[in-house]
Amino acid sequence: MENYGIDIWGDDNFIIEGGVVKVNHESKPSLIKMVKEIREKDYKGPLLFRFPHLIEKQINKLYTLYTNAINEYDYKGKFNAVFPLKVNQLPNFILPLVSLGEEYNYGLEAGSKAELFLAMTYNKMGAPITVNGFKDKEMIHLSFIAKKMGHNITIIIEGLNELETILEVEKETSLPCPNVGIRVRLFNSGSGAWAKSGGIDAKFGLSSTEVLEAFEMLEENNLTDTLTMIHFHIGSSMNSIRPLKNALKESGHIYAELKNLGANKLSAINIGGGLAVEYSQFHRTAQYHLQEFANDVVFTLKNIAKQKGVEEPNIFTESGRFISASSTVLITPVLELFSAEYDSEHLRLKEHNPPLIDELRELYNDMNSKTALEYMHDSIDHLESLLKLFDLGYIDLEDRSNAEILANLIIKKAIWLLEVDDYEELKRIDDKIQEKYLVNFSIFQSLPDFWGIKQEFPIMPITHLDKNPTRSASLWDITCDSDGEIAFNPEKPLYLHDVNLKEEEYYLGFFHVGAYQDILGMRHNLFSHPTEINVVFEDGEVKLEKILESQKIIDILEDIDYDTNEIKKILKTNLDRNTYQTLKQYLHDNSYLKTTWS
Ligand code: PLP
Repeated sequence: MENYGIDIWGDDNFIIEGGVVKVNHESKPSLIKMVKEIREKDYKGPLLFRFPHLIEKQINKLYTLYTNAINEYDYKGKFNAVFPLKVNQLPNFILPLVSLGEEYNYGLEAGSKAELFLAMTYNKMGAPITVNGFKDKEMIHLSFIAKKMGHNITIIIEGLNELETILEVEKETSLPCPNVGIRVRLFNSGSGAWAKSGGIDAKFGLSSTEVLEAFEMLEENNLTDTLTMIHFHIGSSMNSIRPLKNALKESGHIYAELKNLGANKLSAINIGGGLAVEYSQFHRTAQYHLQEFANDVVFTLKNIAKQKGVEEPNIFTESGRFISASSTVLITPVLELFSAEYDSEHLRLKEHNPPLIDELRELYNDMNSKTALEYMHDSIDHLESLLKLFDLGYIDLEDRSNAEILANLIIKKAIWLLEVDDYEELKRIDDKIQEKYLVNFSIFQSLPDFWGIKQEFPIMPITHLDKNPTRSASLWDITCDSDGEIAFNPEKPLYLHDVNLKEEEYYLGFFHVGAYQDILGMRHNLFSHPTEINVVFEDGEVKLEKILESQKIIDILEDIDYDTNEIKKILKTNLDRNTYQTLKQYLHDNSYLKTTWS
């Protein structure tokens, strides 16, 4: 039975049991049960389920990996981690993360002023805050204020101008100076889809000459002791470990050289993010084990410290995807299978049909499991010929409609006959017999990385898993944009079930959407963020909490600066009271489709 690669990407977070996907935790609730519970409360459209226990699992895992490595190599430095806010800033994700991370002193990383405000507000006092990205004087001043509030904050400079501004603010205010970190521009770049964050031509970081200059500037201003951290980030979701090892050596030596130059308080190397997430349903992409990753970090830094006679640095990481991707699942109903319109009831056969139509009828009636494949191929050829005849004006619209219906009925019958005898054969011919599934979501809003960079996400139905899927599937979203499609790819095929949506519901789950998708999502066609739900396990019970409904249409319009009173006034002008009330109700719905078509 098809398991949609759950053993590759699933990390035992979800299991298939009794034909449905279940959360592999405590009472093991099925996803479909949770979907039904929410839909009964009249929340329709796509649903984003967040699982804080999976955030907790990843935080535990991260700290365990490094604790193991530190113990194994008797390493003297300490392990610290921060969550990069840019990966997911939404409150339903961040607030549980902060409280789950408390026992580890888990901190936050900010890359903009708005993110810094979040970190200053919600980070546990004493847990580290790192500040990355380009900064103006205001952002640096904010970091000083955070320090004054008592935060353990490190400004990581991306260029010498930022250090100059730090010196300026230090002189102009009586505020305490935060720790300073230097992002180094390494010669070694990363691997994987996001590798361009590192390398000599990277967007961020100081060259060796600038690192030396920065140190001299600190010395001249008696601020050497503020320098505590060396930072690099060579790319997200790295699939190979070798570039990391090279980057560790390079940054480790920079750390040691600076210590030997007199950077007495320099005590940490921050390795950024980069831990891999398995997004593929077809093969593993990471060529290393997570423990190997942590071991390599500790072992390499230990060796450099020994070689250069300096203390072993504390290790900081800023893993984002690894912590967040698995914690969110998008579940949404299929609204339509496009072949459903090809129903025998709609045939308009005549007394005298074109010969090819009569042949299609015969193929349909005479087909058996032995002839299914051959007849199906014939029917596809016949359909093509009939469509050409239509273009040339030799057959009419009714004939064309009959041709389309009969060819589709033949394909369906062949699939049904073949499924019994030869499921593999069926897969072999899949690109010829695709089904289009219309799904109630926007790819631009919910899977922006699929639209933008063709990022794969695990996709599977959450029910029907005790039956073989028989249709090679293309997914169409409800935006009126041809880019809103996940087309069938024979190299990475998605097979779904042939369902009669008049009789049964069919939901698709899109997994690993907890990193970046929430915030990168666009309101193309004015589809807003889906309804969110936090799934909390408490005292043996599953609680669906913090339900945040997708924005109402009226609010979306207000958000893009329309005067909603004016809108209402104009709409009201020519309508009677009752019709206007109905219209008002629609304005207060979210923009996803509510009723499935039947
Ligand atoms: N730290 C920095 C500076 C980054 O630029 C990024 C992402 O690109 C991260 C951390 C998070 O990386 P990841 O999501 O691979 O863990």
